[in-house]
Amino acid sequence: MIKYALVTGGSRGIGRAVCIRLASLGYHVLINYNSNSIEAERTLEAVRNAGSDGEIIQFDVANRAQTANAINVWAEKHPDSYIETLVNNAGIRKDNLMLWMEPEEWDNVIDISLNGFYNVTHLLVKNMLVKRFGRIVNIVSLSGIKGMPGQTNYSASKAGVIAATKALAQEVAKKGVTVNAVAPGFIKSDMTQDLDENELKKIIPCGRFGTPEEVASLVGFLVSKEAAYITGEVISINGGVYT
Ligand code: NAP
Repeated sequence: MIKYALVTGGSRGIGRAVCIRLASLGYHVLINYNSNSIEAERTLEAVRNAGSDGEIIQFDVANRAQTANAINVWAEKHPDSYIETLVNNAGIRKDNLMLWMEPEEWDNVIDISLNGFYNVTHLLVKNMLVKRFGRIVNIVSLSGIKGMPGQTNYSASKAGVIAATKALAQEVAKKGVTVNAVAPGFIKSDMTQDLDENELKKIIPCGRFGTPEEVASLVGFLVSKEAAYITGEVISINGGVYT
């Protein structure tokens, strides 16, 4: 029986590393992306190199109709299968001080991280409950735990997903579905390219940024059968930054 996993924002960064990790665990990986098809193809190639297979599924998680259409088309083609693992990873930053934050900067970040979580999760959770097994991992952030200046939008969106993680975990626990959040600190990716690592590493006890692979390794554990008794948790992976 093929095990299917969907990773939103699987074309780059943490999402790509998660796709590769899940492939190495034997999943057939559905690699979602929004606009970067070339990078999504690279992820698919890496998934195949990891010894499994996958497919690319394009949709903008913030677009409810587009998301539903893509997932429903996939489900119609796979009537005897279901997506047992979902990693809600798609996210963006649009930092600004509240004083200057434009409505679009607020809305875009909330729409992708928080509403995107709803748009995808509510479509997949039913089958997980029916089959009595499922794993949902939400990639949140240190910012959603402690709040970061210049990121009221991002902090709010991630804090919202953290609360939803805790609530949903309690709704579905009896049916063998776990829901957890992984909260990275500073991880090397396109998202953090513009940050000064040399300066910021001074506040990180481990003295460096983390890697997408380190985050993916934690996700790999949380989706395993061995992690069945961990649910509703927010697990930090931040090199020792106090939260
Ligand atoms: P990244 O390198 O910028 O990659 C972002 C990914 O999200 C890309 O695959 C992108 O797809 C996808 N995406 C963006 N908007 C989307 C949308 N509307 N619909 C579908 N996919 C969309 O970012 P990253 O650093 O890997 O971050 C991944 C997650 O980790 C995010 O949720 C982020 O908030 C979180 N995080 C990152 C860090 C960090 O330090 N890097 C720290 C804490 C939390 P395209 O390639 O098509 O654009």
